[in-house]
This record gives sequence, C-alpha cells and structure tokens, in this order.
Amino acid sequence: MSAQPTASLFIGGRPVEGQGADLPVRYPFTGDVIATLKEATVDQVAQACAAARAAQPAWAALAPVQRGRILGRAAAIILDRNEELARLETLDTGKPIQETLVADWPSGAAALEYFAGLAATLTGHTIPLGQDWAYTRREPLGVCAGIGAWNYPSQIACWKAAPALVMGNTMVFKPSEETPLGALKLAEIFIEAGMPPGVFNVVQGRGQVGAALVGNPDVAKVSLTGSVPTGRRVYAAAAEGMRHVTMELGGKSPLIVFDDANLEDAVGAAILANFYSSGQICSNGTRVFLQEGIKEDFLARLAQRLREVRMGDPLDPNTNHGPIISPAQAGKIRDAIAAGQAAGARLVCGGPGEGAFIPPTVFADATDDMAIATDEIFGPVMTALSFREEAEVIARANGTGFGLAAGVFTQDLTRAHRVVAALEAGTCWINTYNLTPVEMPFGGVKMSGLGRENSAAAIEHYSQLKSVYVGMGGVDAPY
Ligand code: NDP
Repeated sequence: MSAQPTASLFIGGRPVEGQGADLPVRYPFTGDVIATLKEATVDQVAQACAAARAAQPAWAALAPVQRGRILGRAAAIILDRNEELARLETLDTGKPIQETLVADWPSGAAALEYFAGLAATLTGHTIPLGQDWAYTRREPLGVCAGIGAWNYPSQIACWKAAPALVMGNTMVFKPSEETPLGALKLAEIFIEAGMPPGVFNVVQGRGQVGAALVGNPDVAKVSLTGSVPTGRRVYAAAAEGMRHVTMELGGKSPLIVFDDANLEDAVGAAILANFYSSGQICSNGTRVFLQEGIKEDFLARLAQRLREVRMGDPLDPNTNHGPIISPAQAGKIRDAIAAGQAAGARLVCGGPGEGAFIPPTVFADATDDMAIATDEIFGPVMTALSFREEAEVIARANGTGFGLAAGVFTQDLTRAHRVVAALEAGTCWINTYNLTPVEMPFGGVKMSGLGRENSAAAIEHYSQLKSVYVGMGGVDAPY
C-alpha cells in the first residue's frame, strides 16, 4: 500500500523534493511505511516564504469575489473526490473511513465554501467626524504560517487556509510530521481550482522546520494547532517579530450532566466527547461531571453502549474505533491509564489494550487532583467525577488551566444558560457535544489559546485595519 506523493513539498505552485532528512509516513493500523518524504531545509522554508511573499500583492489585488470563486471551486473538487481523499486521510491518520468520509475533508470543504461566500462582504467602515470623516480599510497581513496537529490534518489545513486566503493573505503550511499527506493534496487542488502559484505552499518537517517558519522575516502571522508547550514556544518566537498569532491548543474540558438530563442523549454525548477519532480531539470533554442521582445509571449505560464498539481495520466501513496515531502516543496514553489505576480510580471499562489499539476507557470515582483528571491525555480515556450542587460543579469545572470547551446537559433552560455563562471556556455546548460547524467561532481561553477559527470572527485574525482620516476643510495649525 503506497501513498507516495509526487514530491514532499509544494512551493511556488509545483511539487518540490525536500532536501532535508527522511520523513517516513506510517499507516498507524499496520505500522507499514506508506510513503517516505523528505523534510524541508531552512533554505527551502525561506524559499517557500519568499514564494508566498512574491505572490501576495497580486493575490490581494484580485477582486474578493474572484478569490472566493477559486476557494469555491476547490471545495467542489474536494467534495467530488471525497472518497479518494478520505482513504488517504485514513492511511495518514489511521482514523476509521466511517469518520474520514464525513468529518475530515467535508468539514474542510465547508470552510472553503463558507469563506468563499464571505469574500465579497469583507469591508471597512466609514466614520462621520463632523465636516471631516474617516474610513477603515480591512487589509491582509501578508504571509501567514499555518502549523497543524496530526488529528485532523486536512481539516486544519483548510480551516487555516480558507480565512487567510480569502482576505488576500498567502500561506506557508507545515503539517505535523505524523500526517504530512493531506496538505499536499490541498495544494494540488488549489492549483487545479485556478489559484495562482505561491499563494498556498507546503513545507514538511519536524518541530525545527516549524521553528524556522515561525522565525522567517517574511511571516506576518502564525496560526498553530498543537499542544500547550508547543504553543508557548511558538507564541514566544512569534513575539520576537511582533507577529500576529492564533493558538488552538489543548484542553481538559468538562462535560456536566445534571440529574434531570436526558440520560441516553448525555451518554451519547459523552461517547462523542471522548472516543471519536480514538479520543484524539482537542475539545474532548474528558472530565465528565455526573450529578450524584444519575451517576451509576449513567456509567452502567455508558459501559453497555461501549461494549458495542467495533475496533479494527480502519478501511472496513464497519469499524468505528481506529488505532492510535503512533506507538509513542499509545505509550503515553497507556502510562496515563496506569497512573489512573495506581491512583485508585475505578476502571469501569476499557484498559491499556494491545498494539496500536486502546479501547474506550472509562474511569470513575476519580478525584479532581488525580492526573487522569488534570492532564490532557489525547486518547480514548474518560474520567467521571461526581458532584452535588451547581455552584460546586462550576467551580470544579473551572479549576483547570485549560479553557477550550465545555458542555452542559440539563432540561432546565435557565440553568443551562446560567452555567455556560459561568464556565471559563471558549466553546460551549448545551445538550450536545463536539459539534464544530464552520458558522460558529471555535477557540479557547486561558492556556487553551487565543484567536478564533471559523465564522466571520476568523477574519479578524487574518486582517488588520488601516484608519484613514479625510480632512474636508482647511488645516488649523497653532503656529
Ligand atoms: P504538537 O504541539 O506536538 O505539534 C503541533 C505542531 O507544531 C506540529 O506540526 C509540530 O511539528 C509543530 N512544532 C513542534 N515544535 C515546534 C516549534 N518549536 N516551532 C514551530 N512548530 C513546532 O501537537 P500534536 O501534533 O501532538 O497534536 C496534539 C495537540 O494538539 C494536543 O495538545 C491537542 O489538544 C492539540 N490540538 C488542538 C486543537 C485545537 O483546535 N485547539 C485541535 C487539535 C489538536 P511536528 O509534529 O513535526 O513535531
């Protein structure tokens, strides 16, 4: 099974072979090498940035509707080829084809369609000032660097490219070293859709290639999806050049289930909040707070439903739980499970699993200070905690440095809104979980990051305002 691309990088509208170290790409299910890419050298990162910089003025000079049309065509190509692209995404990530067919490229295409539609509406304002007036121009930032994580590689590339490019910026994108293939497809599709060369470029490599990109003097903005430690480093490096940043980082989000919740829906939401993509989702609600009255019924029903999970070959359409991205990540998850057991939490179901597979794992009777309740695991491990009162659960839900997401299940309308208002999280759900439509802003607070992706709000993070004062009378100087 080979997924070897034409070349490892995409610079100035064409595939270019990397001149750095080998980057083997493994299919997480079998561990087989399906492609061997080569990293970009620092010089090649600079070439990609220079190509993006050279392409930017002409791209920004197009009428917005023309840029939007190209993004729209790219979305149509993606949707047309969704099956082939989903298969590649499954090989790259190990996620079940059942998921990649509906979640990955389709949500990337939705972002391209959304921002294509928004293109022609992006304007400044006029400001009356008596006889004088001012206006603002919403202008692009220039070259944007996108750096992605490995869990949704193609979606992340589209979510970053769509608002950046529609605003007239150009981009150099570095996928995670674990999942380098999707972004190269996106670069090809953009060219096929009529995008000028150099507008969207791809470089490959490990963290140091990302660091070279963040430090490149041509780069005006960095958008990172990754972990908090990487976010800290990238934010600090970007500060050197006073570059704009968007940081989509990790989380340990609370999902609060009150006694009056619809139990079956709440259990379903806990499954979506913990086990989709084998738990490798930043916004997962991994601290599930159960009000005491429903706790045991909830856990019993959850364990029953989790017994129906179908782990196995990700290309089998019946599989709904795939392997973990890499042996290293599986090892970290197993360490977290072992720590949960050693700390005395009750293992309701699941466990360390074997090889690349870790089954849906649920801990109960945990305390807030256990590592399974404080640290992001980024795997299929849910920690159930119990609570009595609303005020208590709000305080405990907020008792974390993270602030990416949160969910509340209750039939009490006023309580639902009161609780989400009090939760320190950038993205909240009431009576559902983990839905991230492009129409809704997505992002975190506290250590989970800053800036927003998706929705019109994303445009603010890929543009800057120029203010223009227009004098309509004489100039009244004091001397
Ligand atoms: P990492 O933080 O390890 O890596 C993220 C990206 O940054 C990778 O492309 C990585 O390259 C690159 N990188 C690493 N070091 C540097 C550096 N010094 N300068 C520039 N770039 C660098 O995250 P993972 O890939 O392991 O993804 C998992 C994390 O991502 C989790 O914490 C998860 O919560 C978070 N995440 C957040 C999301 C959100 O939207 N908030 C969505 C998805 C994931 P390489 O991989 O090649 O080393």
